[in-house]
Amino acid sequence: MRIGIVGGGLGGLLTAALLSKNHDVVIFEKLPFVGGRFTNIEYKGFQLTTGALHMIPHGNDGYLARLLRECGCNVKIINSNPDGLFRVNGKDYAYKDLFNLVGLKDKLKALKMAANLKIGNVDKSMSFGEFLESVDLALKVGNAFTGWALSLTAYETPMEEIIEIAKNYHKFGGPGIPIGGCKGVIDELVRAIKNNNGIIKVECEVKSIEIEDDKAYVIGEELNEEFDVVVSNLSPKLTEKISNVKIIKGKEPRPSKGIKICVATKEGLIKHNGVLFTPECERINGLNQVTNVDKSLAPEGYHLVMTHQTQLTNNVKKEIDLGLEDIERLFNGKDYEILHIQSYRDEWPVNHASNGTDLDNIVNDKLYLVGDGAKGKGGIEVEGIAMGVMKVVEYINS
Ligand code: FAD
Repeated sequence: MRIGIVGGGLGGLLTAALLSKNHDVVIFEKLPFVGGRFTNIEYKGFQLTTGALHMIPHGNDGYLARLLRECGCNVKIINSNPDGLFRVNGKDYAYKDLFNLVGLKDKLKALKMAANLKIGNVDKSMSFGEFLESVDLALKVGNAFTGWALSLTAYETPMEEIIEIAKNYHKFGGPGIPIGGCKGVIDELVRAIKNNNGIIKVECEVKSIEIEDDKAYVIGEELNEEFDVVVSNLSPKLTEKISNVKIIKGKEPRPSKGIKICVATKEGLIKHNGVLFTPECERINGLNQVTNVDKSLAPEGYHLVMTHQTQLTNNVKKEIDLGLEDIERLFNGKDYEILHIQSYRDEWPVNHASNGTDLDNIVNDKLYLVGDGAKGKGGIEVEGIAMGVMKVVEYINS
């Protein structure tokens, strides 16, 4: 089969690396580089990114890692240990410590919540915030988790998604950091695609996708190519806008917005390679220090700390100022330098569809969606993308 892939983000590249084993694949990317929101940008010797926080949500054992191995990609992913801690009153705790930080009544409530979540005995129609709200600290920690991992507040996160996320967590474990950061993954995908004779065209914007009964066309300026099927790595909304197919039939997918602040520090802020959730901060939900895994992500003698916060209001400047005040308190007198502040919204959000609002990957026999507008259920970020890609690849190969 001849397959056209529109967009060279993680979703498009992963699909191409898998499908190019058995099919002729061409990728069209409008920017001069591939990787979309999952690649590195070098700044003052630091490997900052176009989006992601250099983390793979289920590390070396999750869906993405498995698919990378299936493509023949050689990506070393170091699992975080501990996978996450949370900071309260200046001290860092593991999730299980939460039960001992609250009074007896709250402890019993929290234990019951954890047990019910593990066996899936919860009202799926409620939000995670409603589920947690009877124990104040659990709500704060839950909110920090959803803010970091999904760029949503706990009240915006459907319990149905949390149940699936919990299942995936119990199956695969917590996050990991790829050596080389996001670009370590992207470079290997490009290598795999080229090894399979796949074609990658950059600076090639697709203006229209035309689906007909027996063929599909990808059209741009000086571009009109015929394919058997087309896979779109663009948001469902943009795919619908440039194609002749109705894609969004029910509710529109709701994007999630966020702000990332990159900080240079000589001393470092944390000693471990997992996430530090910050439930007491005004805005920042969590941070990581990726140089604890891969020193090459910063110049010699420096650490790179990346903070993330979900964007709570439309006043981006105020949100950034509150984030910067949190950073000042977190560093508590230690030396640091703000390297870069990035806000993610509109056409370059954290997720084109926040968890629970994703579209199905299969539009029809000729058109498929991949990427963070069509993630699998309970799939955090790139793990959700990998789940969607798996579905598309199985469907096309069947
Ligand atoms: P994209 O990366 O957006 O790829 C789509 C591509 O299509 C782009 O390259 C774009 O240029 C191209 N394109 C658009 N229009 C056209 C056109 N008309 N013609 C041709 N090409 C076109 N995920 C994690 O797993 N771990 C993390 O640590 C993490 N942290 C994050 C932190 C932040 C601040 C943000 C913003 C995101 C984070 N994510 C993280 C999410 C993750 O980065 C994204 O979900 C993922 O990179 C999206 O990949 P994609 O392939 O769906 O889309």
